[in-house]
Amino acid sequence: MDLTAPGLLREACLVDGQWYAPEGRDTIVVTSPADGSVVARVPSLASEDIEMAVDAAERAFRIWSKTAASERSAKLRSWRDLIVANADDLAAIMTAEQGKPLAEARGEVIYAASFIEWFAEEAKRVYGDIIPAPQADKRILVLKQPVGVCAAITPWNFPAAMITRKGGAALAAGCTIIVKPADQTPLTALAIADLAVQAGIPAGVLQVVTGPAEVVGGVLTASDRVRKLSFTGSTKVGRLLMAQCAPTIKRLSLELGGNAPFIVFDDADLDAAVEGAIASKFRNAGQTCVCANRLYVQSGVYDAFARKLADRVAGLTVGPGTREGVLIGPLIDEAAIRKVEDHVADALAEGAESLVGGRRSGAGSLFFEPTVLVGVTQSMRIAREETFGPVAPLFRFETEEEVVRLANDTEFGLASYFYTENGRRAWRVAEALEYGIVGHNTGVISNEVAPFGGMKQSGMGREGSKYGIEEYIETKYWCSAVG
Ligand code: ADP
Repeated sequence: MDLTAPGLLREACLVDGQWYAPEGRDTIVVTSPADGSVVARVPSLASEDIEMAVDAAERAFRIWSKTAASERSAKLRSWRDLIVANADDLAAIMTAEQGKPLAEARGEVIYAASFIEWFAEEAKRVYGDIIPAPQADKRILVLKQPVGVCAAITPWNFPAAMITRKGGAALAAGCTIIVKPADQTPLTALAIADLAVQAGIPAGVLQVVTGPAEVVGGVLTASDRVRKLSFTGSTKVGRLLMAQCAPTIKRLSLELGGNAPFIVFDDADLDAAVEGAIASKFRNAGQTCVCANRLYVQSGVYDAFARKLADRVAGLTVGPGTREGVLIGPLIDEAAIRKVEDHVADALAEGAESLVGGRRSGAGSLFFEPTVLVGVTQSMRIAREETFGPVAPLFRFETEEEVVRLANDTEFGLASYFYTENGRRAWRVAEALEYGIVGHNTGVISNEVAPFGGMKQSGMGREGSKYGIEEYIETKYWCSAVG
């Protein structure tokens, strides 16, 4: 990998301001999903190392939480500027370990930086309150204070943005944070942490630790000194971590799985709906929790939509993310591609038909052809589980009432999308969808200013936006007798 700043490729954790790779520990090997080559190795830390990080976070919290908001804001701003200045290197590191096309990786870096910029601004606007008291001799004040030491456990599909969306909010609020990135993508996290050090963010305020998930997660969730956990990942692991946090009653933010419906009504602008479906379904090779998972198309436009979508999908270039013009990179690992294969095989066996794609691509062992399936029904596995791959299954529906029922018939409730030119219908459907995020006539909904988060078993809490910082803030009621 050719980097302008090779120092960003770190093979050590960041603990208490030091690059930490103790003797006698195993390593985690980071490989490229495009060709299986070894990219780098990072330490597999033990529980005593994680305890050390908690100690450091606690010490740093005493100072950071008392640092003027304007100063915290300025440091965050410098961090953001360094991320943008190093966007090409960060993108190269991300593509190497995660696989997404370089242009998409660069887009994620800029998106990741936008959260730090946003929260640098919000840091200065954490207002308290004064409430008129029911008695004349009382004064009621509301103070906003940082929660304390926080932990973040993040996934491999957005190796940069999931860290800054949590870390930016935490640091802005005056919290310190220990980040455990996914084993597959620790290098982007470490590079971003390097830039935090360069930005002057003090030792212990942001730390990055790598190691066996159960060990790192075990220490962070059991510690009563860690006051909050923010997790993005599968519902299965989220449920487990929630249980592990129960004994210490930790504050929790959970961004879990999705099963996003994408609804195209007869009165939709079909070309716009096709573009929205491409953007929502095929970004990151279908590996995002807001990717359209079930495309419901009303019968009047079903065939026309299927044809247009299949034509467009046939033109998506598959290949390694480093190659110019590639739009679909590899899936993250063998288990991921096998799940996609299983979903497609199950659907085909149950009577669905593939208009384009449907199997592994010749580009390499982890590449799957972008696929459009028609004749998909609610009883197939693909309807109930998140596929997390480049497969668009098309379900046929007749009425608005029916599709709203089908769309809501899942334990998930993260993102949803619908296309209609009818304003009244838009209000009805937007209000009826049991989802934290609703996209109307658009397949692109993520940005730093809007609240991101799910309902039902897609999680709790919101990230980004003015609401995101609240997750890291305690509300303290101060009642003062003045008489
Ligand atoms: P995915 O299936 O997308 O990899 P996971 O929920 O398994 O999603 O992983 C998301 C993050 O959670 C990763 O950082 C992973 O290492 C971590 N993780 C997985 N299992 C555990 C666990 N038992 N305890 C703590 N963290 C875990």
